[in-house]
Amino acid sequence: MTANNPQTMGQQFGRRSWAEPWKIKMVEPIHMISRDERKSALDEAGFNTFLLRSKDVYIDLLTDSGTSAMSDRQWAGIMMGDEAYAGSRNFYRLEEAIQTYYGYRHIVPTHQGRGAEHLISKALIKPGQTIPGNMYFTTTRLHQELAGGTFVDVIIDEAHDPASPHPFKGNVDLDKLQALIDKVGAQNIPYVSLAGTVNMAGGQPVSMANVRALRELCNKHGIRVYLDATRMVENSYFIQEREEGYADKPIAAILKEFCSYTDGAWMSAKKDNLVNIGGWLAVNHEDVFDLARNMVVVYEGLHTYGGMAGRDMEALAIGIEESVEDDHVRARVGQVLYLGELLTDWEIPIVQPVGGHAIFLDAKGFYPHIPQNQFPSQTLAAALYLDSGVRSMERGVVSAGRDPKTGDHRYPALELTRLTIPRRVYTQAHMDVVAESVKAVYDAREQTRGLKMVYEPQYLRFFQARFAELD
Ligand SMILES: *Cc1c(COP(=O)(O)O)cnc(C)c1O
Repeated sequence: MTANNPQTMGQQFGRRSWAEPWKIKMVEPIHMISRDERKSALDEAGFNTFLLRSKDVYIDLLTDSGTSAMSDRQWAGIMMGDEAYAGSRNFYRLEEAIQTYYGYRHIVPTHQGRGAEHLISKALIKPGQTIPGNMYFTTTRLHQELAGGTFVDVIIDEAHDPASPHPFKGNVDLDKLQALIDKVGAQNIPYVSLAGTVNMAGGQPVSMANVRALRELCNKHGIRVYLDATRMVENSYFIQEREEGYADKPIAAILKEFCSYTDGAWMSAKKDNLVNIGGWLAVNHEDVFDLARNMVVVYEGLHTYGGMAGRDMEALAIGIEESVEDDHVRARVGQVLYLGELLTDWEIPIVQPVGGHAIFLDAKGFYPHIPQNQFPSQTLAAALYLDSGVRSMERGVVSAGRDPKTGDHRYPALELTRLTIPRRVYTQAHMDVVAESVKAVYDAREQTRGLKMVYEPQYLRFFQARFAELD
């Protein structure tokens, strides 16, 4: 058993095994269609798992976005929607929850995370400016580029190495950031775009020491720090587990301390916050708030609903409270670690250490014979679906898109296929089935051939691109 095992990790800290802090009250039947049916579904979807129909999927690990199971309290909250156009009571409840648990002053609700990214990018970035960050995220970088900015990756080198056991692979490399400041000038950096955890690096966390040092460096140069807080609760769990001095602090306290080193945050509430739709922007500075609150009425909706129904805001406020409970986070991340542990024991190449929301299969390790321009991660996602109806997602050259200047593919160091675990949805038995299917696909790796892209959309191509088998 390796250091990742949540059970042995628990014993090491003198604790017993975790179990889900809930019991099941309602079920949604699922079933696996036949292999022939899966084959034709895959053809119809152009080998892109985003284009499969949900009814043809058995265990859906496409994403943890908006796929959480809500609690009975949240469903009760749905019935308490105040659907007034302006000043809904649910908005004030949401505002208070964000202020209480994240600690920011001003709140702007949005329909989901990218709505908030749009607002903050447009409010702060001037054409020609540079936005440093700890690895790109697809929608985040696109909004920064659409606002005229250029994203520059300043994450530590270990993040690009799937085998590095560094406990905080999401950390910002402060030397890289300092070098960038020296090169472009602090006045050309509107803010540092910090994400906790780092999705594209495999759900890897940022340490408290790193954000504190980042804050100091940025203070010296008068640069603001904004946080992609989408999975910051999970990041807080890793700080509690791995960083000295935090083992006895509750997740909620760690979350609030971390956020206190930043000037604001954007949030896809569809992740950590346990709702099926929603997002928010939260900022401390009055001037940024004024801009964002003004723009939200153009792009999202009035500043007291921002694209959400009153009932959505109520479920979100309750979701925030539930999301920071230690038992919840421990079981959520524990389930991801459980799957990672099975695959690690079977020596299947995955990103180590296992992150908070997903297992990232190292497609280069599966298919060293498939070059990156034949899409190894896409190939792996298709093979997994064909084997067992398990749906995963490409996170490699397709997701990285093309360089806007040269028009060539961007070839990321990491070529990954993501098995993303929805919160409070699947059981340990589902994880066993998934692990066995990954093993079967791994065992057949040498017979597997790559793909060619036959349709490529202009923006965020991974969502809608189509592929075919190589002749
Ligand atoms: C999902 C996600 C977003 C975008 O949020 P949406 O709700 O999908 O629009 C931004 N950042 C990260 C890290 C995400 O995972």
